[in-house]
Amino acid sequence: MKQAAEVVVIGGGHAGVEAACASARIGVPTVLVTMSRDDLGKMSCNPAIGGIGKGHLVREIDALGGVMSHAADYAGIQFRLLNRSKGPAVQGPRAQSDRVRYADFVQSHVANQANLIVVEGEVIDLQIEAGRATGVCLGDGSIVSAEAIVLTAGTFLRGIVHIGDKNYSGGRFNDSASTRLAKRLAELKLPQGRLKTGTPPRLLGTTIDWDALEKQPGDEDPVFLSSTTSTLQCRQVDCGLTETNSKTHDIIQRNLSRSAMYGGQIGGKGPRYCPSIEDKIVRFADKASHQIFLEPEGLTSNIVYPNGISTSLPQDVQADYVRSIRGLEKAVVTQPGYAIEYDYFDPRSLNAYLELPEISGLYFAGQINGTTGYEEAAAQGLVAGANAALKVSQGTTLSFERQQSYIGVMIDDLTIRGVQEPYRMFTSRAEFRLYLRADNADQRLTAIGREAGLVGDAQWEAFQTKMTRLSRARAEMQDLKVSSRELADTGAILNPDGPNRSVFEALGLRGVTMEGLETLAPSFSKFDLATQRQLYNEALYAPYMERQAKDLAALQRDDGISIPNDLSFMDIEGLSNELKEKLSKARPANISQAGRVEGMTPAALTLLLAKVRGQE
Ligand code: FAD
Repeated sequence: MKQAAEVVVIGGGHAGVEAACASARIGVPTVLVTMSRDDLGKMSCNPAIGGIGKGHLVREIDALGGVMSHAADYAGIQFRLLNRSKGPAVQGPRAQSDRVRYADFVQSHVANQANLIVVEGEVIDLQIEAGRATGVCLGDGSIVSAEAIVLTAGTFLRGIVHIGDKNYSGGRFNDSASTRLAKRLAELKLPQGRLKTGTPPRLLGTTIDWDALEKQPGDEDPVFLSSTTSTLQCRQVDCGLTETNSKTHDIIQRNLSRSAMYGGQIGGKGPRYCPSIEDKIVRFADKASHQIFLEPEGLTSNIVYPNGISTSLPQDVQADYVRSIRGLEKAVVTQPGYAIEYDYFDPRSLNAYLELPEISGLYFAGQINGTTGYEEAAAQGLVAGANAALKVSQGTTLSFERQQSYIGVMIDDLTIRGVQEPYRMFTSRAEFRLYLRADNADQRLTAIGREAGLVGDAQWEAFQTKMTRLSRARAEMQDLKVSSRELADTGAILNPDGPNRSVFEALGLRGVTMEGLETLAPSFSKFDLATQRQLYNEALYAPYMERQAKDLAALQRDDGISIPNDLSFMDIEGLSNELKEKLSKARPANISQAGRVEGMTPAALTLLLAKVRGQE
């Protein structure tokens, strides 16, 4: 059988779904090939979306018309704004999800997406002719021809599942690995490596002694993942809290040599920020206990996800250490924890559109680029899918800058610095994080998404209505003045004999609370809560924006100095061989990107600048 599309996406994980939907939203006929329809919306590990840095990415996906934020709100059984006690810039919305509802939402969204067809099957070969991607071949012999391919095979490429000293080929628990495609990809001779990640055992909820545990409820005023969601969509649940103890640590310590991670069976590097319980016990040997969040996997599910004890120990040891934990003395393990090792490709081979410059129309997105996490995968999928569609339909591109979005930060980090371990997003990765907030993602990106064809009419109209409401409220609060004495009386820290200030300015003062302002300026309280919060965040960071504007100007100046495509970094005298190689791999497009290549020094940058100027 032969099918034709303009864009074909391989893999229906979080990257693949966003890639396929983005391409289809732009209006380009798209085929999504995945091993099974049930893959769509499947969460391989923890049943949760968002968090610090990750929640920012989801809000950006949302601003660009993506799927993940809506699925997370639909399936959200507990919402928490992480870092609530810190500044709004580093607060990240998180939703614990009902796994079944999450997948249902994604599957019905994909089924109803115009211009998108799902084909079940395994892609075993890529068709590449004269340096251009032209289609894919499936295991059953059928072919899907296309002008662009987006590859999002996740942890499946030569995946090996490890449980203690047992291991077998698999893409994740109960799923086959993608071995034939991995072999074909190896023929492309791209720089590649092996990474690993792990997941905890799952527990039967009815065998947990919930009464012995502390409860963790969600927030009373939930902050959603989509800026367009206003109400809860299902019943909310509490999580349980427990912790490991010296007995747990003894069991693990005694069996370390039987762990796949410590027994030497796995070569790939794992996520430093999501360590296994074996890792925690070895690396933080002085800690007497480690916290565990017991997260119900859904409203109709009896399965509980014990967040914090991912492992690759043998099954009998897992059962033993689980039962040493308070509240889990009689817990039944329904699925063992395991580690998975898989192929990834050095993302420095990709350009800012996630395309391989050597093979026109071939894009890579998600875990295969060395990242970890649903959110990181989805954001890359959206960028790759949109670019594939724009290339084949209009010959244009869509790129994201570091100063504009976390998506831009991630893609720049991946394609310029590469990865030494699975990459996850943190707010500390962004230089302009006071501006890149979750609450203003739509203001930063929705117009860009609309221009690219990613944002539909309903979202666009809702955004414009919101912006009109916000700018009226801002203008009103800038015009309304209050005296410094009145402000000091409500707790603001300022000289009471100082000048009058606008209510907008007052919002940014230390000690001022929204409640205090409502008494002083009752008209403030007529605005809806979202508008009040937004004004507060804007006012709080307004004084810092000027300083950031200077840094931004310096960055833009360096962005403006392009490095010619054909410049040979190997020929720059005075650079170390290591740096020459790193620059050749990353191929920075301008001086600002070159400055971010790992190991770059001011002296090396001067040599590079001289070379660039010499070629002008
Ligand atoms: P995946 O979600 O893996 O999806 C890949 C898709 O491609 C699948 O649908 C598969 O069927 C399809 N596919 C593959 N090959 C082919 C082919 N040849 N033809 C057709 N279809 C194909 N993330 C965290 O943030 N923290 C964690 O602690 C964590 N632990 C994890 C533990 C395990 C055991 C696993 C498996 C994953 C873990 N993750 C974790 C990672 C998280 O699941 C991934 O980051 C995320 O799912 C990646 O999304 P993706 O779309 O790139 O790939």
